[in-house]
Amino acid sequence: MKIARSPGAITSLTALWRRRGESIGFVPTMGALHKAHLSLVRRARARHDRVVVSIFVNPLQFGPKEDLKKYPRPFLKDAALCREEKVDGLYHPTVSVMVPKNACTVVEVQGLDRRYCGTSRPGHFRGVATIVAKLLGQVRPDALYLGEKDYQQLVILDRMTRDLDLGVKVVGCPIIREADGLALSSRNAFLSTTQRAHAPGLIASLRKGALEAKRRGATPASVLASVRRSMKKIPGSKIDYIALADAATLEPARTLQGRLRLLAALFFRNTRLIDNIPILL
Ligand code: AMP
Repeated sequence: MKIARSPGAITSLTALWRRRGESIGFVPTMGALHKAHLSLVRRARARHDRVVVSIFVNPLQFGPKEDLKKYPRPFLKDAALCREEKVDGLYHPTVSVMVPKNACTVVEVQGLDRRYCGTSRPGHFRGVATIVAKLLGQVRPDALYLGEKDYQQLVILDRMTRDLDLGVKVVGCPIIREADGLALSSRNAFLSTTQRAHAPGLIASLRKGALEAKRRGATPASVLASVRRSMKKIPGSKIDYIALADAATLEPARTLQGRLRLLAALFFRNTRLIDNIPILL
């Protein structure tokens, strides 16, 4: 496995592979790798000759009161995991290269970035899109592997690649969960024992909403109300948002028809958890 620290190093590595006609799958991450990240790597591994993983804790996607400083950075352990998964290139750029002081350009996927997670995290998706656009320019993969756990991010980045003709296929990968249903996340480590015990209430509430959606006479409002009722009972938590949206556009659902997505976020004190499930009607 080659480790690249600069844009020049990763670009020339992937250029060599492309010249040989090899296809490249790319998995961007913020490190602190867990089983869910590795599931993305395996999906890319199964479909491409070469797999590149990036590890970059992107300061642009953290708000001023968020956990940028305490975000875990176990690089050596992450590199070992990547080696075990037969990753070909590990890209670990520096903040000064990814966020140069003189940069004038940002990428905004307008409209989509103001809803749901974008409301409580202003500027978050602009930070994500700007850095992922830059990573794509540096790595130049054939396909970008993203988790459905961050469903709004997946829709936004898919939109960005199509709007800007970036020539990369976006592949959404299923959510990986703990045995009790909690979606894997680096932020789960910030939960206290009690909070951790209550955290699966989030997916349980979404599942209640999915059941309600199947009931005769149900409406988008009744689905949202059922999720809200259930989330309100999760001890020590505060609801951030609950949404029922078109799975492709993320427009709020007006009727219970087609391919929808039920999404929610909650806080346990400063720790914010998100989750979502598909609703097929
Ligand atoms: P992160 O390091 O948190 O930025 O995540 C990197 C990638 O892993 C993103 O595409 C996430 O959506 C994906 N990911 C994180 N947690 C999960 C999960 N539990 N299931 C599926 N994908 C995930």
